[in-house]
Amino acid sequence: MDPEEAYRKVLSSLEEHHRWFDSSLPMIASENVTSPAVRRVLTSDFGHRYAEGWVGERVYAGTKYIDRVESLAMELIREIYEVRFADVRPISGVVANLSVYTALTQPGDVVMALPITKGGHISMGPLRGSKGQFIGGTAGAVRGLDVKYIAFDDESMNIDVDRTLRRMEKYRPKLLMLGGSVILFPQPVKELAEAAKSMGAAVNYDAAHVAGLIAGRRFQRPLDEGADVMTFSTHKTFFGPQHGAVITNDEDKFDLIKKANFPGLLSNHHLHAVAALAIAAAEMLAFGEEYAGAVIRNAKALARALHDQGFRVVGEKLGFTESHQVLLDVDELGGGYRCEKLLERANIIVNRNLLPWDIKRGRSFKDPGGLRLGVSELTRLGMGPEEMAQVARFYREVLIDGKKPEEVAKEVSELRKGFRTVKYAFEEGPAYEH
Ligand SMILES: *Cc1c(COP(=O)(O)O)cnc(C)c1O
Repeated sequence: MDPEEAYRKVLSSLEEHHRWFDSSLPMIASENVTSPAVRRVLTSDFGHRYAEGWVGERVYAGTKYIDRVESLAMELIREIYEVRFADVRPISGVVANLSVYTALTQPGDVVMALPITKGGHISMGPLRGSKGQFIGGTAGAVRGLDVKYIAFDDESMNIDVDRTLRRMEKYRPKLLMLGGSVILFPQPVKELAEAAKSMGAAVNYDAAHVAGLIAGRRFQRPLDEGADVMTFSTHKTFFGPQHGAVITNDEDKFDLIKKANFPGLLSNHHLHAVAALAIAAAEMLAFGEEYAGAVIRNAKALARALHDQGFRVVGEKLGFTESHQVLLDVDELGGGYRCEKLLERANIIVNRNLLPWDIKRGRSFKDPGGLRLGVSELTRLGMGPEEMAQVARFYREVLIDGKKPEEVAKEVSELRKGFRTVKYAFEEGPAYEH
């Protein structure tokens, strides 16, 4: 390979990617876009440095400004969530979960979580599936935990409390993992946390998806409802770079979690991301309430509009959604794979997703029956309910009317011209450039 050609190819690919996203509708529920300040900080010198350990107990020199920034990041996170302790070192949501497994369980212990088919995340998954097939979920494969499932009720699109309580009695878990990747509604944290406490189990709420909504006080606050610990990714509904964090009010558990992170799981904890997280947290503190309100308003508006355009939107009887997510059942429209690919040609970026009833009707991961849509990024770009109605019309044109996706792409690009700036930030600026 010609090295200089490769070098140019990487740069031109990035340019093309930015141009593409600048004329698209990015609607992957786990993604968002960061402010220019967050992106600037990500390329700072912090990204060249090491600061192993805890502020004040570093095992490296040269960290005095790094310490100051990391302290600020922790302080901001503690203030946002009104908690006593925060560890901002996990380099992702998965690592945050792993730090909780490491701190609060032993290999062989039972952990209970939602199965992936019902909104659980691979980081809560078992080593092997029911037929002995390798799955490789973090809880089972990395920490050696025995994963048992929380019961889910398809009707209410939520945890089935009674059945879960019975399973908890049977399996006596050491840890309950709440939260999830498909999460339309607040979960029954209070009931489950009470039961967990009575049997000496710890409760972690994985807020990877909803951390920004919780920060903005528009979603359940798990620690107030009885969860012991909350882990999260900082980049889904939160304003941050790709990173993770853990918060708790429990000092003993926190001491263990700190040690699990270092020296357990991390050497370098990506100091540029910590700095970017500090900025994102300041943005959250200032604009989080307004943003989270707008996100949920948009999700509801999009769900309603899609329903009115003739789509099967999950949760119709429940008001569709209380989060940033909207779920479509596209089984009759050719399935998730086909719909995802058609939408992508129209520059609408979403991901296909398993619905809770997919396995029963013979669908699988590769071609599930659902699409999971998220409005976090469109909201950050300043879109509101009117644009959501327009977006729903694009979905209809592509998936129901059978209009050529490339034609719809032109309309998408036209709409995007009015929304090219990242809002809810101290410095607003262009979204997709570097
Ligand atoms: C996205 C997600 C994670 C993983 O987060 P990363 O930051 O990608 O490692 C963990 N748990 C849940 C529920 C998620 O949705």
